[in-house]
Amino acid sequence: MSAKGLLLSVYEHFKSISITDKTPLDSESISITDCLMSGLAMFGLKFPSLLKFDEQRKETPIKHNLKTLYNVEQAPSDTYMRERCDEVDPKYIRTAFKKIMSLVQRGNGLKKFEYLDNHYLLAGDGTGFFSSSKVKCENCCVKHHNKCNVKIIGYLAKDLSIYKKNTYLLINNSDQDWIIWFINSSKEKIAVEVDSILNLKDLLTKTRTKLSNKEKKQIKVVVSTDYNSKQTDAKITFYHNMFCAAIVHPNLKLVLPLAPEPIMKTDGASKNDCEYNAAKRIYADARREHPHLKFIVVEDSIASNVPHLTDLKNLNMRYIVGVKPGDHKFLFNFIKDASCNEYSHTTDDGVTHTYRYLNNVQLNKSHSKFKTNFLEYWETSPNGNVQHFCWVTDIFITEKNIYQIMQGGRVNWKIENNTFNTLKNQNYHFSHNFGHGKKHLCSVFSMLMMLAFFIDQVQELYCDLFKGARLKFKSRTSLWEKIRGMTKEFYIDSWDDLFNSIAGGYEKAKLVPNTS
Ligand SMILES: [Zn+2]
Repeated sequence: MSAKGLLLSVYEHFKSISITDKTPLDSESISITDCLMSGLAMFGLKFPSLLKFDEQRKETPIKHNLKTLYNVEQAPSDTYMRERCDEVDPKYIRTAFKKIMSLVQRGNGLKKFEYLDNHYLLAGDGTGFFSSSKVKCENCCVKHHNKCNVKIIGYLAKDLSIYKKNTYLLINNSDQDWIIWFINSSKEKIAVEVDSILNLKDLLTKTRTKLSNKEKKQIKVVVSTDYNSKQTDAKITFYHNMFCAAIVHPNLKLVLPLAPEPIMKTDGASKNDCEYNAAKRIYADARREHPHLKFIVVEDSIASNVPHLTDLKNLNMRYIVGVKPGDHKFLFNFIKDASCNEYSHTTDDGVTHTYRYLNNVQLNKSHSKFKTNFLEYWETSPNGNVQHFCWVTDIFITEKNIYQIMQGGRVNWKIENNTFNTLKNQNYHFSHNFGHGKKHLCSVFSMLMMLAFFIDQVQELYCDLFKGARLKFKSRTSLWEKIRGMTKEFYIDSWDDLFNSIAGGYEKAKLVPNTS
């Protein structure tokens, strides 16, 4: 699992991607493989911006090294790279993650991550990576800051102050016609014609009492969509989020990320895609691509709802997810008076672990048949500091596995800390906008960045040459700086030469200095 092997497998996959170009290719054209590999090299070598990459790509040592290290025949200009990568559907890049994971599996690398009866902990969470009030593309999610409220009611109240600002009141009593009032920001009522709201008339053919909940919801969506479309851009934020999942282990700092799932406005959809749907896709893909792996999904309390946990059950995945008193009142009320099992022990580090647990409990009021297992936990450090956590899990809790379940639940922070924060703080420049594009560029770049991160993590886990070079530096950031400096100063023929020279000095490798 060396850089050479990993990058070759990505290169072979990128070579198989064909896109329909807007403009026909000529002899001047640079292949999509070169564009994608150049993007990967930009993140792999930790260039701070696309402009910096563009400035340096023509320098002869860089040109040489892009060819020998990343198989790039010809590196594109910044504009060209943006235009071509914008056309690539991010779903094509997903496969590259699968290829690398297969190499890890084949090399028996997953063994390190085994946990609780040959399972793998899969930590998942969403994160934002782009937000702007001006820059946007076809796939941006849109947030309207000046939202309207929509109420379907029988009578207009005399006291208008009971209504919120920016509220549409759709009024219908028995078989009367519909009347619409808009309560503006000064809480005055303004008459609204049914015809003035796009697509509304067809939905108001029934009286209020005959409308189903689904129909009412549809009416509310139509009214707010119409309202939003009439707002000016100043009150709108365009943004991209993605849902990420990674195989993690309580004792390992390194993680193995799956392909991130962009959360975006899908083609033709007016409503923003949401984290729930993206999570649904990522876990379904993980199951399809790894049909035999035993997963335990670890997420925070936003995930502990019955539809999501049922999805996981249907995918044959276990779970350990957080619960909070504020979000799970029914559960916590029940637990308060229930006679739970209690257990406590002290580990060699002087930390006391206290547990309260109960198997086979109901998660919420409306799903009486859905049962789960509840675990409450206090960690008391030798100096008296106490931390408190609660989870639900479908793993039957016993005194034998309770410590492992607790540790499994707590690795959830690794997705935030060891993935998102690494991308932000260790020279990957996660928060920098490398380019937005009109269609897919924003997502393509974020996936290439995650792919570069994945390759780095795999090397640090399994590649002795890389580990040798890594040992020379206190921080990864210093190693990245060294590598980038060397690619400017030397003609490097292979990754082996690069890492050997960093680990053992220049006499350990054949490097030709740049004398120009
Ligand atoms: Zn966008």
